[in-house]
Amino acid sequence: MLSIDDFVQRLAESGLLTDKELRSLAETVPLTATPECGDRAARELVRRGMLTPFQASEISEGRHKSLVLRNYLILDKLGKGGMGVVFKAVHRRMKRIVALKVLPPEVTKTPEMVRRFERETEAAARLSHPNIVRAYDSDEQDDTHFLVMEFVPGKDLERLLRERGAQPVALALEWALQAARGLAYAHEQGLIHRDIKPGNLLLDDSGTVKILDMGLARLELADPGSQELTRSGQVMGTADYMAPEQALDLRLADARSDIYSLGCTLFRLLTNRPLYT
Ligand code: ATP
Ligand code: MG
Repeated sequence: MLSIDDFVQRLAESGLLTDKELRSLAETVPLTATPECGDRAARELVRRGMLTPFQASEISEGRHKSLVLRNYLILDKLGKGGMGVVFKAVHRRMKRIVALKVLPPEVTKTPEMVRRFERETEAAARLSHPNIVRAYDSDEQDDTHFLVMEFVPGKDLERLLRERGAQPVALALEWALQAARGLAYAHEQGLIHRDIKPGNLLLDDSGTVKILDMGLARLELADPGSQELTRSGQVMGTADYMAPEQALDLRLADARSDIYSLGCTLFRLLTNRPLYT
């Protein structure tokens, strides 16, 4: 149970509302002195659209201090992958809805790794193609590095496969073709993806496929002294879709390795089975 004073204090500390909005709270929300009234106030703010259900629950859980990163207000959690947690967020002033990926601290441990991250995000930021998720911004707050990208309403093909199973030939080909167009463009610009798989292809609500995580797989190389990330296999491409040369050494991967991975992805889309069992 959250008291009203705790709730108001956490809300202020979260940075979600402006001072003006905070001051006007007292007028908009009936603040009585019953013990559970912090929770009631939270529910009321959700009802009024001033907080999202996710924000209200993070405040209740005491995680209110990670709801704002620089100019971005976290709205909801979209998911968690090998390379950190992805949130839906909104730019405080521009009101643009974005997807924000918070990187795990292991990949930005040393200055060399941070430089690598910056080089990769710079390269990804130059890409502009309808079949590649657009990178908007990257920043850090209190040593937490994050990437800001286009929010794609829809679902990734891994989830789609799990929900609907093998796909009709025409659809599978259409999606693979779109991914191939995005890849061809990235390759022309000198970028290799290195982790093409159904989970990194987003299908938006209008049927467009967009490649996710362009350039991110390279971060695994960042700290040659530590084999930790490689061994855990978390950041390295998924074995089911990985070209043999890349499995030997990530540095050997080139454009052809991405095409191999796209082939394995097409196989999975058509059969809902991995190429090798
Ligand atoms: P991996 O790290 O191995 O790629 P993953 O694909 O499960 O794992 P992420 O790529 O981090 O993990 O994505 C996590 C979730 O967030 C996925 O469900 C994905 O669909 C969603 N997501 C990621 N980026 C966006 C985006 N730009 N717009 C909308 N949803 C996104
Ligand atoms: Mg992914």
